[in-house]
Amino acid sequence: MKIGLIGGGPSNLFLAWLLRNEADLYLIEEDNRLGLPMHCTGLVSERMAVTLGLGWRVIDNYYSSLTITNSLNSRGVLLKFTGNRIVMLNRPGLEEHLYSKASFRGVHMGVRVTEVNKRGVVRGFGGFEGSYDVVVIGEGARNVLSRITLGTRLNTVSGVQADGYSQYLKGVVNDEHHIVVLFGGHYSGRFFAWIVPRGDGEFRVGVVDDPRIVGLRFRKIIRELRLNPRRVFGGRVVLGASNVNYGQGSVAAVGDSTGITKSLTGGGIVTGMLTSLILARALHEHWGVGDPIAEYSRALGGTLGRLAKAYSALSNMLYGNVTVVEGALGEFDGIEVSIPDYDNHMDALIRLLMARPKLGLTLVKYTPSLNISTVNLRDLVTSLF
Ligand SMILES: Cc1cc2nc3c(=O)[nH]c(=O)nc-3n(C[C@H](O)[C@H](O)[C@H](O)COP(=O)(O)OP(=O)(O)OC[C@H]3O[C@@H](n4cnc5c(N)ncnc54)[C@H](O)[C@@H]3O)c2cc1C
Repeated sequence: MKIGLIGGGPSNLFLAWLLRNEADLYLIEEDNRLGLPMHCTGLVSERMAVTLGLGWRVIDNYYSSLTITNSLNSRGVLLKFTGNRIVMLNRPGLEEHLYSKASFRGVHMGVRVTEVNKRGVVRGFGGFEGSYDVVVIGEGARNVLSRITLGTRLNTVSGVQADGYSQYLKGVVNDEHHIVVLFGGHYSGRFFAWIVPRGDGEFRVGVVDDPRIVGLRFRKIIRELRLNPRRVFGGRVVLGASNVNYGQGSVAAVGDSTGITKSLTGGGIVTGMLTSLILARALHEHWGVGDPIAEYSRALGGTLGRLAKAYSALSNMLYGNVTVVEGALGEFDGIEVSIPDYDNHMDALIRLLMARPKLGLTLVKYTPSLNISTVNLRDLVTSLF
């Protein structure tokens, strides 16, 4: 089986690791180095990192607690992770680690793919042409090949962040294993901003918003937090997709290109690796005895796809109503909740409401102000049931 992998991100590299003894693998990556340009904060749950075979070599820091607040002057909501902590993965360390586990027949660095057809023919800059039994689109959030070849349309926002030092932040966040999420119209009209200590007194500060204004937001935030940026990076964050097509003919998509992410946080590393796990399994079981791409699409459209769709609908509701949610957040000021599993957002929400049951009723007063489109509700209901 000859497989062409377009894009050297964690999704495709993990797939290459899984299929190292089963296929002739060819990597086509437009950059000259893996993992560049950097765009991601790198936060995942410790349990998933370990389950997916990522050891401490690719982990830069861990976090036992997180505050969600609408101002650095208020206490906000404190979440304490009792079982499953958050870890920061090193990127491009993650890509380098996955690459070292894989085994390629051919590696084409510095080649941007411009065309993929459903029969497995790939063309790119510099006269590149290749023909494969299976082509896997792992182009991240760019949504060019996945849109043209498969028809998937990603729903994205833009993120900008910086690593740097700030004496002011050192005073405010004086625990290297604690994250602060800044939520509210003052920081972002579409998502949230974050302060993540990297260790040795350094911070990673970022914000996600509409592409037109995210740069302005970012500059305002780093001025306010008095951060001295050492490096600035960012990219597109996937919040869902419409017209989803996970694969057809000889072509499949993995990772961000499928539109499957944890859209409440924008996290896509683990979900991307999970899509690869499912594709590897479909290829392993159905190659030569069925249609592995059709099996993959069916499997992905099941639990993972439906869950992602439900979270995407929830995130649309939450981030389409930032000012309303900000008001509600004020009501929770000072609450502390123990969260056994960082990955389980629903459980976290329920625990929060249980911490002060009366607040559940208080929140009802915000409901009439919520702008809930019928599409969101339909998506939510159909994906949950
Ligand atoms: C600001 C920001 C913060 C984030 N924070 C987190 C976080 O904390 N936790 C988390 O889990 N996720 C986070 N994410 C999301 C995470 O980065 C992605 O979900 C993840 O990188 C997706 O992996 P992937 O393999 O699908 O694609 P990518 O990692 O995007 O890799 C795609 C690769 O394909 C290459 N490529 C693209 N087009 C072509 C082409 N035409 N030809 C050849 N090569 C091509 C690119 O150069 C790249 O190397 C964040 C994203 C952003 C933008």
